[in-house]
Order: sequence, then structure tokens, then C-alpha cells
Amino acid sequence: MKNFKNFLKPSWGLTFIAVLFFTACEMDQTQILDQNDSQHSRLDNNQLPEGYESRINPQLRSSDPNGRLMEIEQQTDTYYRELVQRAMAVEPTECSSTEFDAWINEELADWAFNEIFWASITGMLDFPTYDALLFSNTSEGEYFGKDGEYTQKMTKTFKDLKRFWTIDSEDIVLAAMHGNMLQDRDRLIRIDQILYLDDLPTAEYWADLILELLEEIPQYRNGEHPIFTLNAFAQSAFFFPPVGEVPSKIIMGDGILEGYETLGFGDVAPQAILAHEFGHHIQFQLDLFEEFRSPEATRRTELMADAYSAYYLSHSKGATMQWKRVQQFLEVFFAIGDCGFESYGHHGTPIQRMAAAEWGYELADQAQKQGHIMDPLEFATLFDAALPELVAP
Ligand SMILES: [Zn+2]
Repeated sequence: MKNFKNFLKPSWGLTFIAVLFFTACEMDQTQILDQNDSQHSRLDNNQLPEGYESRINPQLRSSDPNGRLMEIEQQTDTYYRELVQRAMAVEPTECSSTEFDAWINEELADWAFNEIFWASITGMLDFPTYDALLFSNTSEGEYFGKDGEYTQKMTKTFKDLKRFWTIDSEDIVLAAMHGNMLQDRDRLIRIDQILYLDDLPTAEYWADLILELLEEIPQYRNGEHPIFTLNAFAQSAFFFPPVGEVPSKIIMGDGILEGYETLGFGDVAPQAILAHEFGHHIQFQLDLFEEFRSPEATRRTELMADAYSAYYLSHSKGATMQWKRVQQFLEVFFAIGDCGFESYGHHGTPIQRMAAAEWGYELADQAQKQGHIMDPLEFATLFDAALPELVAP
């Protein structure tokens, strides 16, 4: 990252994506290769297919006449993707730096221009997300964490959440997102064709380029660098023509799990994040999302998901976690939402998010004296009544 920052003009004030695009156009092949010590045989941007820039700059994406990419944007928690962009940003942003940001920056410390350029231009940063979104359509045989180290915790918590909340959750799929999909040529071709509408030879070209990059750039860790799977989200069922019916699902990326493990929260994070995503499924099913997206609407559903999560985590009939310990994790977890109040992905400030979680905890604390689990719709009604107070300055 350091090399990359020094290399670019800091006064440009553009986002990483735009800077990268313009820079790539201005640079010749020699300059790009000079940025890296190793000799890359095919890694020459002058030989990239015509129009390759459109892969990196959404505004130039003319290859999507049907708006297909828009159709398959994930519905919740897009802030993880903003976080990835932020981690690669040249300019300091309005977002405060957090423990999680510091961890990502550390993980990216040995990435210079080349590593960022090729990961962005090929689509590698998005492929695992879209592969999981469209093609991970059963919970069966799923493992969580690079080596399955979270499989037991995730499947147990998911089963428990389905018991705890009285919605119809039988058909919700819980699936993982692994970076090793980047080693699979067929899956790369499949996703490339969906995202970029490439013909088969072009899709094969990009797939083979990605496989070659994994060979030649050790920083990618054979696709298992956490940046490729830094995502977790809930999605309601939808029909997507090239694929068919995609079921309701929760996707959990290895990168997120690895990050919180490294920060010392391996005991809380998987359950807490899963419970938050499950909260979104309660909202899908009870039709609690507003028709039109706005920053305020997103904030409301995100804070409500935080409250659902806190209620389950601390409830004596739920995960029965110590509230103090949950709070310690939430302090770190909520800090990553502190960015761009005007953004459609805005989750609320850390203070608002903690207020929503405390509200959920207190409700659970009262309920467990009666041995009662609240009906999820009643919960939402009470939450909406409390919301003005939770977001009050
Ligand atoms: Zn969310």
C-alpha cells in the first residue's frame, strides 16, 4: 500500500477506482512492469482485450445493456464492499480509521500498484461474492472458514436461530464464500460471462489470466487472501434468468471470519454476524423493508437487525452470551459502519448502533425473567416506536 500511495499524485482527490483507471491509461507497459520486481509474462496491460477499462469503472460499463449487474446487487450490507474499496483508497476518507481497517491495511501492506491493478481489472475482488450469491444454493456440504474451522459454530448457531425466531426459515440457505473459487476455471468462466456478458473465448481469456495471476503473485495467497471474501450478507429469493430461481440465503465470507478472529473475537463474531443477517431475513419475510431505498431507510433496517441480533445473543433461550463480552465485540464491529451518512449503505453511527443493540439486550433481559421469546413482528413494532429515541442526537 505504501508504494502505491507514494506512486500516485495525492492531490487528485479521486476514488481508488477512478485513479486506477486513469493511471492505467496513462501508463505504458514498462511503467507497470517496473512497479513489480518479478517478470510477468502475460501481465501486460497493452495486451488486454479492447474495452477492458469498463471492467473497472462502472460508469464505463457499456457491456450491460440489460442492467443485469444492477439486478443482482446484493440487498443488504453493501458496506463491506465499500470497506474493501476504502482499504485500497489513495485519499483519506471521512471514515474514521478503526481496528478492522488497521487489520486490512496490515494484510495489504505488501500490495503495490500491480497487485491492486490486476485484482481490480480481472474482477477477482467481486467473483467470490457473485459466485456465492448466484450459485451457492444449498446448505448441504457447506464448510465455513478456510479449513472448516467455523463449520460447527455456524451450523449450530443457524439451527438455533431458526428455532428461536418464529418465522418460516426452513428454506433459507446458509452458505460460505471461499477464495478458492478463484482457482476453479469453470466457475471463473461462468461468473465472467454473467458479470460482463463476455463470449466464451473472452471469458476463457480472463479465467486463464486469473489462474496465471494466482501463480505469479504470491500476495494473492492462491485466492485465499481475506480481501477476496471480505463480505457477509442476507439476500431474499429471486429469479435470475441465466441461473433460475435463487433461494433466500445468508452468505458468510472467510475473510470476515478471519479478520475478527485475528482481532480476538473468534468466540463472538461468527454468531453475532450470523444473527444480524438472520435479522434481515425476519425483515424480508415480515415485509419490514420500505419500498424506496434511502439512507434513513437503510439505517432503520440495519439498526433493527442489530437489535434482533443483540436480543438473540443475550437471551437465556438464545445464545446466552455474557452481555459485556458481546459489547466488546460490538464496539469494534459497529465502528466499521461509521462512514458516509448520505450513503445508501449507511448503517448508523457506532453510537446509534450500540443504542439499538442495548435496546435489544434490555428487552431480552426483561423477557428472560418470564422465560419468554418475543414474536418477531411485535419486536419490530416496539423497535419502530423506540427508533426516534435511538437515533436522537
Ligand atoms: Zn445488515
